[in-house]
Amino acid sequence: RAKSIGHNTSFVFDVDMIDTIRAHLTLGGGLRKAIEEEEFELFYQPKVRLSDEVTVGAEALIRWFHPELGLISPDQFIPMAEESGMILPLGEWVIRTACKQIKTWQDQGIPPISVSVNLSGRQFMQTDLVEMVAQVLEETGVDSQYLELELTESMLMADAQQTIEKLHAFRKLGVTLSIDDFGTGYSSLAYLKKFPIQTLKIDRSFVNDLGISGGDDAIVKATIAMAKSLNLKVIAEGVENRSQIDVLNGFQCQEVQGYLFAKPMSNKDFVHYMKTQKMVNVSDVLSSVTST
Ligand code: C2E
Ligand code: MG
Ligand code: MG
Ligand code: MG
Repeated sequence: RAKSIGHNTSFVFDVDMIDTIRAHLTLGGGLRKAIEEEEFELFYQPKVRLSDEVTVGAEALIRWFHPELGLISPDQFIPMAEESGMILPLGEWVIRTACKQIKTWQDQGIPPISVSVNLSGRQFMQTDLVEMVAQVLEETGVDSQYLELELTESMLMADAQQTIEKLHAFRKLGVTLSIDDFGTGYSSLAYLKKFPIQTLKIDRSFVNDLGISGGDDAIVKATIAMAKSLNLKVIAEGVENRSQIDVLNGFQCQEVQGYLFAKPMSNKDFVHYMKTQKMVNVSDVLSSVTST
């Protein structure tokens, strides 16, 4: 196992992937080095408005292209980065990179969209998080309305009073706040109304069997209805087929994200996607003009 591998031992192929990554992270500050060597990249997945299927936003999702191990998914290394504290510099890198990208897209004439970034628990606890975000926005010249932060229910439950203050500070800055993976934690919608958040992202485990499982249909329907009454926007995560879309339309869900529209893409592919989107919209407008 990786724990027993000494500094001078090269890695063997029969160790667990997880143990190998852990070893890379713990041996000689692999993560910091990986930031310096530019092994991380942000991918972007479109958020699509259901009423007209226009892309109105994107979620930034980190990827690690390790020179030896290949592509490592965030579910594998984020927990370790949390443990080691490396999530703080890495999380800052994510926010700065996303903001630079927003600015570049706007300069390239891509229709302005908002980009969401995932925060981890330890990062959210960081005392100067709001100042750091404010600083990055200022540095990159991005209007705060284009940045959204994704939190999880467990982060909100942790330390209610300080949490509420932090969220208000973000709102004052003009940043949008959303709850990710909603339904998988222990919070209730009634509890959520204490927090100044704008968006709920329904976890894909509830979206998966929409139209097949009456139970999931009922949960999603009730969540959307209650979110609406609390003035929250709802995004359904993990939408993979049209029958899910039909059910979500019936429940008046506002936005969707999922493989049906697009997988997370490199910046280059995302720019191409957005340009294609724009042409589709323009031709829609043109055809409606010529048909009258
Ligand atoms: P998440 O924030 O809930 O992100 C959504 C995940 O669902 C992404 O996985 C995305 O690729 C995947 N997904 C989207 N649509 C579909 C679909 O239609 N079907 C299926 N099966 N999957 C879909 P990914 O990129 O592997 O990220 C996993 C998790 O890692 C994220 O879940 C988030 O919690 C975390 N993560 C990703 N990037 C960052 C980051 O920069 N910072 C932090 N702290 N966490 C991150
Ligand atoms: Mg997310
Ligand atoms: Mg999620
Ligand atoms: Mg998540």
